[in-house]
Amino acid sequence: KMNKDYGQHILINPGIVDRIVDKAALKQSDTVLEVGPGTGNLTMKILDNARKVIAVEMDPRMAAELTKRVQGKPVERKLEIMLGDVIKTDLPYFDVCISNTPYQISSPLVFKLLALPNPPRMCVLMFQKEFADRLTAQPGDAFYSRLSANVQMWSKVTHVMKVGKGNFKPPPQVESAVVKIEPKVPRPTVSYEEWDGMLRILFIRKNKTISAVFGLSTVQALIERNYRTWCAQNEIPLETDEADNDGDVAMGGEEEAEVEAMEGLEGIDDDDLPKGYHEIMNETRSAKKQGKRKYRGKVAELVRSKVKKVLEETDLANRRAAKCDQGDFLSLLYSFNKEGIHFT
Ligand code: SAM
Repeated sequence: KMNKDYGQHILINPGIVDRIVDKAALKQSDTVLEVGPGTGNLTMKILDNARKVIAVEMDPRMAAELTKRVQGKPVERKLEIMLGDVIKTDLPYFDVCISNTPYQISSPLVFKLLALPNPPRMCVLMFQKEFADRLTAQPGDAFYSRLSANVQMWSKVTHVMKVGKGNFKPPPQVESAVVKIEPKVPRPTVSYEEWDGMLRILFIRKNKTISAVFGLSTVQALIERNYRTWCAQNEIPLETDEADNDGDVAMGGEEEAEVEAMEGLEGIDDDDLPKGYHEIMNETRSAKKQGKRKYRGKVAELVRSKVKKVLEETDLANRRAAKCDQGDFLSLLYSFNKEGIHFT
């Protein structure tokens, strides 16, 4: 019996199993991480082509079935089964990752793999087709997103093949696709938190101009807050005025409308919002209740002028995140950082 929560869809087409393992171009010296081995259809094929397989499986019944499947066979000693949630498991070093991934962990798994201090040479992963499309999307494509820009910063991603529902038992609701992710060597020397923090802001509205996104009052408030933190950490004194201290000015109708609009960022997942976003919204809301407006003082002005300078310097004010490539994002990030504006 299948357990829905584990996303158990067993690959039943041996042709697809072969193609996935072939794409990984395994060497006999490789250690392979397999995420979610299930009953072991991929595992058996990998075992024939590698030195060692570390299989992380969350469902004890599946782990038991796999144990039985290798029992007494020569490949038994090459297999190590780790029971648990791969996202919460400390992973040892491995050369290659292969997985018919449980779709509910797609995004955390990709980021976990890319963030490893010693990333693997190659990952061959099956995903829901829509997720695979987002991974490979290029600037200007409909599916280009923060995920695309992130993954492609740290790795080379290629589409391998589509896999129809009928190749699984039970068949999933959606079509699937296999992608190859090869982490870049050497790893780009950019802080992941800075890069992702900036992308979270830009992709709040990927089709708006970058200057319009940075003009949103919530985004300005976020940046102002980050800037204050950075100045405090670096002991840089800030010139403030009354508005900075108590924001004792009534809010205009137009601003109120914008705050309302920002509160209901329709279609954006909570996990995708910039860090600190909800706190800013709460502060703004309570200031509004008291008839005050926050983020209107000298520091706010200074931050606004810095943002303006950055957008002029990079010539990106009128571009949209949906069409920017890594070079564009990188020059934006460097220019912001140079002004003391950080996104962590
Ligand atoms: N590899 C097998 C195959 O291709 O036939 C099974 C793939 S099935 C889509 C996903 C497998 O991942 C299931 O065996 C499930 O129990 C396991 N699983 C689900 N969530 C997991 C997690 N967080 N960590 C490790 N394994 C997980």
